[in-house]
Amino acid sequence: MTTDSTPAGAPPDPTRLPGAPTLPEAALHVAGTRRPAAAGATRPVVDPATGHLLMEAPEADAADARAAVAAARAAFDDGPWPRTSVQDRARLLERVADAIERDRDALAWLETLDTGKTLGESRDDMEQIAQVFRYYAAEARTMRGEVNPVPSGAVSLTVHQPVGVVAMITPWNYPLLQASWKIAPALAAGCTFVLKPSELTPLTTLRIVEMLEEAGLPDGVANLVTGAGGTVGAALTEDPRVDLVSFTGGIVTGRAIAATAARNVTRVALELGGKNPNVVLEDADLDLAADHALNAVFFHAGQVCSAGSRLLVHEAAHDALLERLLERTRRIRLGFGWEDGTQMGPVISPEHLAKVEGYVALAQEEGATLRVGGGRPTDPRFAGGTFLEPTVLTGLPHEGRVASEEIFGPVLTVETFRDDDEAHAFASSTRSGLAAGVFSRDAARAMRLAKRLRFGTVWINDFHPYYPEAPWGGFGESGIGRELGREGLAEYQETQHLYWNLEPAGADWFGPQD
Ligand code: NDP
Repeated sequence: MTTDSTPAGAPPDPTRLPGAPTLPEAALHVAGTRRPAAAGATRPVVDPATGHLLMEAPEADAADARAAVAAARAAFDDGPWPRTSVQDRARLLERVADAIERDRDALAWLETLDTGKTLGESRDDMEQIAQVFRYYAAEARTMRGEVNPVPSGAVSLTVHQPVGVVAMITPWNYPLLQASWKIAPALAAGCTFVLKPSELTPLTTLRIVEMLEEAGLPDGVANLVTGAGGTVGAALTEDPRVDLVSFTGGIVTGRAIAATAARNVTRVALELGGKNPNVVLEDADLDLAADHALNAVFFHAGQVCSAGSRLLVHEAAHDALLERLLERTRRIRLGFGWEDGTQMGPVISPEHLAKVEGYVALAQEEGATLRVGGGRPTDPRFAGGTFLEPTVLTGLPHEGRVASEEIFGPVLTVETFRDDDEAHAFASSTRSGLAAGVFSRDAARAMRLAKRLRFGTVWINDFHPYYPEAPWGGFGESGIGRELGREGLAEYQETQHLYWNLEPAGADWFGPQD
C-alpha cells in the first residue's frame, strides 16, 4: 500500500511509505560544522530496489577531504578528546548505544532504503551496532597497561596511546555496521577520524555522525566526507597527517590503499572479503546443513564479506543435500525490503548486477551446470531495481576463477569431494581466507578440519554468527589486522614504553673524562 500517487503495479516511492524515516541532512561534517561540498557538487543516491532518488549527497573533492583531515588533526593534537578520561569516553559510547536503540526502526529503514536489504536484517544490524558501542564502552573502562620487570630503582610501564587521526573508508553492503566496527573502538581509544562512506550508501553514516554530535562529541573528532573513492578516498589515504587508514571493501581497492599508504609508512587495517568455503561432511545433519547453506549465501543477496558462496559437499551427501537446496531456493521470496515476507532484496547497483551475472556466465563456461535461477525476475514491479534470482550451479571445477574469486551476489556453486584431505585441499585453493564452515556430527573430526583451514573464522555446524567480543578478520589476501574484540581496539592504539629512573645518576659513557 502506498500513500503517494504511484500508479497501481508500479514500484512505490519508498520515501513516502508509512514508517519511512526522515532523511539525514545532506552535508559534509567538518570541524563540527555541516556544509555542502566546497565546489557545490552533488551526487544522486538511489534505492536499489526501485531506482527512486533518495538524496542528492554532497560530492566532496580532494580539498574537502584535506580540510576534514586538518580538522581531525587539530582535534587530536589540541582538542580534549584524546585526554578525556576513559570513563567519560565510555559514557559517550553508551549514550550513542542508547540513541541507536531508541532510533532503531528509523535507522533500519534508512539502511533498507539505501542497500535494499530486508527491514528484519536491518533491525538486527542496528541491535548489533548498539552492542558494539556498549562493548567498546566496557573495553574502554577496563583498559590496562603493564609494569615491566626492570631492576629496582626504576619503573618501566607499557601504556596504550590512541593511534591518532584515522581515515575510515567503508563499503556499501553493511554501511553502518562496518562504520561502527571502526568508530566505536577508535573513540574508545581516544582517536579522531574522517569517515568516508561508499558513495552508493551514505544515509546511515550521515545519521550516525549527527548522533555522535548530539551525544556531545567535541567538534572535529568525527568528520565525514561523502564522495568518490578515487578522489576523496585516495586523498585521505595519501595525506601524511593521517596515522591509520582503516578500510573495508574489495581487494583491488585494498591493494591500492596499501600501496599509497606505504609511501608515508601510514598504518593500514584492511578487511577485503573472502572466498568462503562451506564444507559439508557425509555425516552432517543435512537439514541443518541445507538451512545454513542457504543462509550463508542468500542473506543480503550474498553481498556479505563472509558469504558462503562455495559449497563443498562430500560425494555421498551431494544428491540428498542438493535436493533440499534446490527445493528451498525455488521458494525464496524476492521483494522490496520493507515488505512483510520479503526474504531477499536486490543487489546494490546495475554495475554490480552485471558483475554477478558475469560470474554466472563464467561458471557455465568453466563447466558448471545452472540448476536454478540465473536470471532477472520478470515481475514488472521489479523493473526499476537490480534484482537477480537466487542461483545455484553444480559441478563447478575445483580450479578456475569462479572457485577462487569473490562473487558477492546470490550465487551458490556446488563442488564435491571424496575425503577430508580433499575437502581441505579444495577449500584452500584461495588466498582470501576470511571465513569457512564445517558441518559434521563428529565433533573431533570437525574440529580437526577446522584447525587445518587457514581462515580467520571457522564455524562448525553454523554459518555467519559474529560477536563484538570475538575478533573478525582474515588470513592471506583477505586483509591485515582484526576488527571487533580486544584485537579490534588494539588497531587504534599505539604501544608506548614509559621509563622512569627513580635514582638518577650520570650516564657513564660520555661523562667527564680524566
Ligand atoms: P570498493 O572496494 O571499490 O569500495 C569500498 C570503499 O572504498 C568505498 O567507500 C569506495 O568509495 C572506496 N574507494 C574506492 N576506490 C578507492 C581508492 N582508490 N582509494 C580509497 N578509497 C576508495 O568496492 P566496490 O564497490 O567497487 O566493490 C568491488 C568488490 O569488492 C565487490 O564486488 C566485492 O567483491 C568486494 N567488496 C567487499 C566488501 C567487504 O565487505 N569486504 C564490501 C564491498 C565490496 P566509493 O564507493 O565512493 O567509490
